[in-house]
Amino acid sequence: MNEFEGETAVVTGASSGIGRASALRFAEEGANVVVADVDADGGRETVELIEDAGGDATFAEVDVSDTASVERMVEVAVETYGSLDIAHNNAGILTGFVETTGIEEAQWDRIVDINLKGVWACMKAELPVMVEEGGGRIVNTASEAGLVGIGGLSSYSASKHGVVGLTKSVALEYATRGVRVNAVAPGPTETNIQSGVLGSTPGSSSLLDRIRTAVELLRMTVRTLRADYDTSAMREVPMDRIADPEEIAGPVAFLCSDDASYITGQTLAVDGGQAAD
Ligand code: NAD
Repeated sequence: MNEFEGETAVVTGASSGIGRASALRFAEEGANVVVADVDADGGRETVELIEDAGGDATFAEVDVSDTASVERMVEVAVETYGSLDIAHNNAGILTGFVETTGIEEAQWDRIVDINLKGVWACMKAELPVMVEEGGGRIVNTASEAGLVGIGGLSSYSASKHGVVGLTKSVALEYATRGVRVNAVAPGPTETNIQSGVLGSTPGSSSLLDRIRTAVELLRMTVRTLRADYDTSAMREVPMDRIADPEEIAGPVAFLCSDDASYITGQTLAVDGGQAAD
């Protein structure tokens, strides 16, 4: 598999979860990978995993909510590997469940700064380099929560709907300049974001048990946070399991591949059927 041989891929949020799986996948298919994240320890682990598998990777410390930091990340890619061909703008955070009137202004700003402004900041820095090189491919990580509303997660959902709209608009701007811009909308995926909010414990039991535990913990958390907030109507996953990060990384790689050469401005739901429900 050498779909991306000799190309340079930047992946934000690559210190864990979906970003790490995507960084490993790009490296497996021949790309030089810039592993970008605020978490330096996790980032170095991802670099080691890539190097152990015979790939080439460099860590770039970045806070995607800071445009100057993002510009440096792109400089690292160009200085280290001489190009920037692929970007997976994936870094994101999730809040605990709380009703809209309970959201603090600082929490709102933090979610939007990282999840939405961060994706804009990345594309603002990446696009000129890609255009100058004659083209590129960008995939932004949205969410199932970017396609439907989720009670108790309004700031997160708004930020991810923003990513979907941003992706469509930038795709139109760059459609004739050789840069394809798409998004993935993952459903529930087994990563630190899930463990942090839902309390699941990877590896401790079957996936189905972990989903049940996670949903129950979620309901308990919500009952504690807002006595009047009922999550019993939350949507189930039709495939009855949550995703492994690699199941998101595959579709990301597809959107960056030549097989997707006529696809731009799309948000691909990778969600075990949730969007069809
Ligand atoms: P994760 O917590 O494992 O990974 C997120 C990574 O982003 C972490 O390494 C973290 O250090 C990094 N990060 C956070 N803030 C950052 C910042 N300001 N600058 C740079 N890096 C930062 O979670 P994940 O599930 O792999 O999340 C990846 C993306 O997938 C996020 O955008 C998330 O919203 C999205 N997503 C996840 C799920 C899920 O169920 N796991 C579902 C839908 C969408």
